[in-house]
Amino acid sequence: MKLSKPTIIGLTGGIGSGKTAAADHFASLGITIVDADLASRAVVEPGQPALIEIANHFGHEILQSDGTLDRPKLRQAVFSDESERKWLQGLLHPLINQYLRTNLEQASSPYAILVNPLLFETKQHVWCTRTLLIDVPEALQLSRTMARDDNTEEQVRNIMKAQLGRGDRLAMADDVIVNDADLIHLHAKVERLHQTYMEKVSEY
Ligand code: ATP
Repeated sequence: MKLSKPTIIGLTGGIGSGKTAAADHFASLGITIVDADLASRAVVEPGQPALIEIANHFGHEILQSDGTLDRPKLRQAVFSDESERKWLQGLLHPLINQYLRTNLEQASSPYAILVNPLLFETKQHVWCTRTLLIDVPEALQLSRTMARDDNTEEQVRNIMKAQLGRGDRLAMADDVIVNDADLIHLHAKVERLHQTYMEKVSEY
């Protein structure tokens, strides 16, 4: 395994697979984490140009009284309107990508981790030196997500349907952590992989 510079590990996995639990542990080992979900919220914070464009496009009722984006209303506005969805993606995707690239370039650790549940779907895996999949059997994925989010099985299954299937992810990932035991086991697996990544990085 050879890692090129800048070294970015793309961390992905389905809803509730344990990406955050794994990323938190990499962070505790000193690794910079850049999170695509956080990026998608950061680019529409009050004061950001994209929020002004969204309000001008959809009307100011797309904002809540405190000036923040009314996300459910925006989801509703683009849900059944393909052209509106495309407009929004055209606005946000370059900004999100820019935010992620900047934060990855500023990483202070020997390698950085890009967390994105849709890493392969958004093609961001091409930025990555290696990809790491947090894999979990479907029954555990369902029970953990339902317990965390207080969602029904149907709600979780609908989100799973919008994501790549487990087999596709397994076929695409370079490294896999199977998160089918307790958190102590997950942390041990993260530490082993961290050791490997550190060794490969220092070869340069
Ligand atoms: P999402 O894509 O929805 O953001 P995620 O992949 O980041 O999810 P986590 O939030 O890390 O998933 O994990 C889902 C839930 O399962 C959390 O409540 C987490 O604490 C729990 N969990 C993760 N791994 C384990 C484990 N090995 N043992 C027990 N609980 C776990």
